[in-house]
Amino acid sequence: MDDTVRCDYHPRRAARWQCPDCVRTYCRECAHCSDQPLSANPGDGPPCPLCGRLTESVGHANTIVPFWLRIHDFFRYPSHPRALVYMAVLALISTLAPRLGLPGVLLVLMVSVVFVRYAYATLEHTARGHIEPPVVDMDMVTDRLGVAFQQVAVFVLLMIAAIAAMVFLGPLGFVLAFFFLMAIPATVMLLGMEGRIMVAVNPLRHVGLIAGVGWPYLLLCLFLVLLYGGSAIITQLSMHVLPMGGVMFVANFTSMYFTLIMFTLMGYVVYQYHEVLGFDVEAEHEAGEEDEGAAPDPAITRSHILVCEGRVKAALDGLSARLRDGPPDPALRERFHRLLILAGEGERLAGFSRGYIRRMVEEDKTGKALAIYRDTLRLVPDFDLEDARLAVPLIQAAARERAWDMVLALARGFRERYPGNKHIPEVYFLAARALSEGRGQDGKARSIIRQLLEKYPAHARVEEMRRYQQALEKLGAGPA
Ligand SMILES: [Zn+2]
Ligand SMILES: [Zn+2]
Repeated sequence: MDDTVRCDYHPRRAARWQCPDCVRTYCRECAHCSDQPLSANPGDGPPCPLCGRLTESVGHANTIVPFWLRIHDFFRYPSHPRALVYMAVLALISTLAPRLGLPGVLLVLMVSVVFVRYAYATLEHTARGHIEPPVVDMDMVTDRLGVAFQQVAVFVLLMIAAIAAMVFLGPLGFVLAFFFLMAIPATVMLLGMEGRIMVAVNPLRHVGLIAGVGWPYLLLCLFLVLLYGGSAIITQLSMHVLPMGGVMFVANFTSMYFTLIMFTLMGYVVYQYHEVLGFDVEAEHEAGEEDEGAAPDPAITRSHILVCEGRVKAALDGLSARLRDGPPDPALRERFHRLLILAGEGERLAGFSRGYIRRMVEEDKTGKALAIYRDTLRLVPDFDLEDARLAVPLIQAAARERAWDMVLALARGFRERYPGNKHIPEVYFLAARALSEGRGQDGKARSIIRQLLEKYPAHARVEEMRRYQQALEKLGAGPA
């Protein structure tokens, strides 16, 4: 039953907008990544990220998970503490009140009225795309209680119509009566959304709503029948284990619980089809959107679209402008770096990587700096850091990772390139360790450390070098 239109750039996401010129569909994130301004007309879509023309809606329903895939959510809905406590209190009153005689019976009726009001509030709340039950406040107990009487009136009118049809119209009357029965969910939805009896009993409105929902309406009816039966079954089961008072409470409570599921379900159907049905849901809530993580920088999304379109150069230019003008964003730098590698732009990559590595070193993220260096080397084998302040932290990071070949590569010619650098002893000590631990050349390592100890007897790491030297000698490796 999945005929969802998908985003051309995120195949797992439903599309929300489309550009007829580019023949492309966009999810919300993609549609809002253009740097062109939004149209002032609320009916217009956002500008197409590729051509700038205003996009058109593919129908809000397309981005809504259909109700038949969310049945489990509707079961969970009344278990929200807010609804649960409210229903428990109402069920308790209904269970205890009849002991008070006539006033008690009136109290039970009151509770039913209040609960029906709550069920309709739930329907309306869900129809607006909310996924949590509405807040219970004084209004909920005092305001708009008339909806319960409206519902009774609607049911009575429908029943009279059904009986009249069967009495006066023969076989056709039975067909009509069956239609009235099937129309009950439609009447509830219409009453919930428009609050008028004449709308809720109007067969033309029933036909319109059922036709708008289409075949899934039958599915809705089926679910409602099953739910209706569900509460009775639970009450029956409770008879075997509970005393009479308990059974009464269970009966009251489960009938409320299941009624609330039914109203939530009907509310969601309104939400899912609100565009076709012409219901105005005030804001586009995104109930249960597939991905709720923070949206990336629009420039990243735009670059993703351009890369998918094979326009890597344009993607690079866009990101480069954004990096130059906008606030710094690590994800943006990362993306730009990857794209430079993808595009094979060696020279640009080398220049960018140097700045990127410098920033990472300054932020003390030397592991990341080393990863950038490594990635850059793959495309630019003769990539040079040109700065001892970058080379030393990278050598240290490589040693920490025991990436001994990298240590040796970075240390090669260090003394000649950066004569007089205060880190020379440390760099060559690490190189010696790399020779020993990475290549098993203990003799060479000992020779380097011996020279270091002679030349820099006052260096801070002399003790460490000496211990290392002794360990190497103990191993009794080959001749120096
Ligand atoms: Zn998308
Ligand atoms: Zn376009």
